[in-house]
Amino acid sequence: MEPRALRDLPSVDALLADARVRELEREHGREVALAAARAALARAREEIRAGHPAGELEARVEAEAAALLRPRLRRVLNATGVVVHTNLGRAPLPKAALQRITEVARGYSNLELDLGAGVRGSRHDHLAPALRRLTGAEDALVVNNNAGALLLALAALAEGREVVVSRGELIEIGDGFRIPDVLARSGARLVEVGTTNRTRVRDYERALGDATAVLLRVHQSNFRMVGFAERPSLRELASLAERRGVVLVDDLGSGAVAPLGDEPSPRASVEAGAHLVAFSGDKLLGGPQAGIVAGRAELVERLRRHPLQRALRADKLQLAALEGTLAAHRTGAVPVLRMAGEAAADVRARAERLATATGGEVVETVARIGGGALPLAELPSFACALPVELAVPLRLGEPPVVGIVRDERLLLDCRTLTDAEADEAAGAVERTRAER
Ligand SMILES: *Cc1c(COP(=O)(O)O)cnc(C)c1O
Repeated sequence: MEPRALRDLPSVDALLADARVRELEREHGREVALAAARAALARAREEIRAGHPAGELEARVEAEAAALLRPRLRRVLNATGVVVHTNLGRAPLPKAALQRITEVARGYSNLELDLGAGVRGSRHDHLAPALRRLTGAEDALVVNNNAGALLLALAALAEGREVVVSRGELIEIGDGFRIPDVLARSGARLVEVGTTNRTRVRDYERALGDATAVLLRVHQSNFRMVGFAERPSLRELASLAERRGVVLVDDLGSGAVAPLGDEPSPRASVEAGAHLVAFSGDKLLGGPQAGIVAGRAELVERLRRHPLQRALRADKLQLAALEGTLAAHRTGAVPVLRMAGEAAADVRARAERLATATGGEVVETVARIGGGALPLAELPSFACALPVELAVPLRLGEPPVVGIVRDERLLLDCRTLTDAEADEAAGAVERTRAER
């Protein structure tokens, strides 16, 4: 049926009685057929009111049903050149991580069973040895994310007491979330010291009192201070913390376990004397969302026993993926690090192939690490430039391709695409052009 006027539109029941719609109902159930029929009629009504023909209703119902059935959380091709893109799910997982997820999730696992002794075990025991090796710390614990790690550390070590932080480190992580607010939720009291640009050991020293439990250092992450700026080294803070009997917690944010720019590594932080370090699993570690806390065994144990630990614990998929990610670090097969470190000439070659396949033009551009790490680092990169009109249809396509619009052109940055993904992007461009 191709109704041209509102009065030609069938009722929902009549549409559901149509043979093609009945077929759809047999396959996907009453609810999907009904929702699709209603949506198709609503769209047809809109078109007719706007003076357009409503098109074939059965095809509309099928299209609406397909849209309803399509997963909402979807794979996307990241052509933005931002390697750790928080809006695009941060780190693409290493192959080893994907294998561990499938292996552990397809059946039961020894998540909380000690296979040797045949008694209840702890989910935290699986990752602790690898994290100890990675960080040089005595013990480690994995929770849901780094914000959770920080919350747990402060709740367990400083609830009802004071946490001393430099005014230069009270950062907003993103999407309006601020470290001081997370800190407040832990039940600890924030004591700010120093000024925005300069904080000295003396400032910390003066703020330390009987109520002080933790000296907190927060990595500046997504911004840098230049010019008249100063802050003590971690070593100086560690020696102050030792002298005064308080705990030094270092929130590292990105957790660059492999050296990258001036990002501090968890190992260096532990060596400099931090009692606990906290970092994310899905930033420069290149794994699943997770928060890792490593440090003194006695402190990690206090976190493990805290009630919030139960609310913040990592699930088996995260742990499986993290174990695979740590294994991938030993062999150097971590996508985030590969993308960050790829030679510009290789990125250019990919951009050239994509440009040849799509009739685009190769342009020089700058890619970024993202995820609140190395905000000043500019990664030389190359993109395929296409007409800006393709930006929206490519984003709405399957798979969605997300690039950046600059100077009235759509740029597909090839640093964050694999070779295979660049081919897929070329296919998407071709389909989009054919449909226009
Ligand atoms: C990113 C970041 C966090 C939050 O980490 P999530 O894993 O996103 O929860 C906390 N602190 C710092 C310094 C960060 O850079």
